[in-house]
Amino acid sequence: MPVGTQGKFRELYMTFCLRATYFLRNTGTVKVVLGNTYHLENRPGSEILDMFNGLPAFINWKRGTLTDSGGFQMVSLLDLADIEEGVAFQSPVDGRQLFLTPERSMNIQNSIGADILMALDDVVSSASTNDTRFEQATRRTIEWLDRCISAHRRPYQQAMFGIIQGGTDKYLRTTSIEGLLGRNHHLPGYAIGGLAGGEHKKTFCEIVSQCCSRLPRDKPRYVMGVGYPLDIVVCSALGADLYDCVYPSRTARFGTALIPEGVLRLKTTSMATDYRPLDSDCDCLVCKNYCRAHLHAKIKKDPSAASLLTYHNIRFQMRLCTDMHIAIAEQQFTPFVQAFVRRMFPQRPLPQWLREAFELATIEV
Ligand SMILES: [Zn+2]
Repeated sequence: MPVGTQGKFRELYMTFCLRATYFLRNTGTVKVVLGNTYHLENRPGSEILDMFNGLPAFINWKRGTLTDSGGFQMVSLLDLADIEEGVAFQSPVDGRQLFLTPERSMNIQNSIGADILMALDDVVSSASTNDTRFEQATRRTIEWLDRCISAHRRPYQQAMFGIIQGGTDKYLRTTSIEGLLGRNHHLPGYAIGGLAGGEHKKTFCEIVSQCCSRLPRDKPRYVMGVGYPLDIVVCSALGADLYDCVYPSRTARFGTALIPEGVLRLKTTSMATDYRPLDSDCDCLVCKNYCRAHLHAKIKKDPSAASLLTYHNIRFQMRLCTDMHIAIAEQQFTPFVQAFVRRMFPQRPLPQWLREAFELATIEV
């Protein structure tokens, strides 16, 4: 899922306008976009979204949508005052004191009207060393989930996912998983939260594997905030299905294109005379019409270059996911993974964490 903060893709210069959705539709396989509840509540706000009967109509997006609970934005943006009832914080927009409870999060997400919404969780950065805080967050996330279940006004129209917390502690993760499984009939899908925050890759993979091995096989598993192409392949090998990340568009802003070998930095001087497309395997409009030298010349002066790179990067991620999906359906996932890592690490041995992750997934690389 590409992330559309405030329902827009900044790099594509489209605030609630047709072009944003036009471009996304043309990246081929984007089926779901993620909108940030916190930003959408600030602008355009629930009242306007209610008038349009929700975000999809407001941005003229006819495919899937997902909204986060709003909690993560607060943790990442703000000086957090943590209390049992919900999270209190100061708005970075106008300094107002705001307060988000599970009920309020559900209320806003019901107004936004996404197909998938997320229960409010108590997020602690995986880099934190405060064990008590992780215990508290694990317990509280389950308590808040019960309040979200009660407050959710449209359970038959909007699928609410519960979020597993517990940091990097396997015991806490088990507690969180068991708590969610006890409410399985309310949960059409599950998310693995509190990762991708700077923890060791080995630990990250072990937690994803632990969660996926315990979750129901017939419901989607969503690893939140994951978006490097390699991580998407690894998590899929470990049993996950769904990802969101700002990475493809954020890295495009810095002049970086995603390619099967890794990344291509368009600002480097070697690009000035490189007349190949970004990725010769790519079928996107950028790769069909522009060469690396053209984009290199543009990248420092013309903001449209970042749009072009965003477009390619999103298409790259979508093709990766489609190819992976086909490989899984055709029982060709192991050869897919082998070809993928061989291309990314042609001469070098695989990093140890990666070999261990594929061992966990029983995939021989
Ligand atoms: Zn392309």
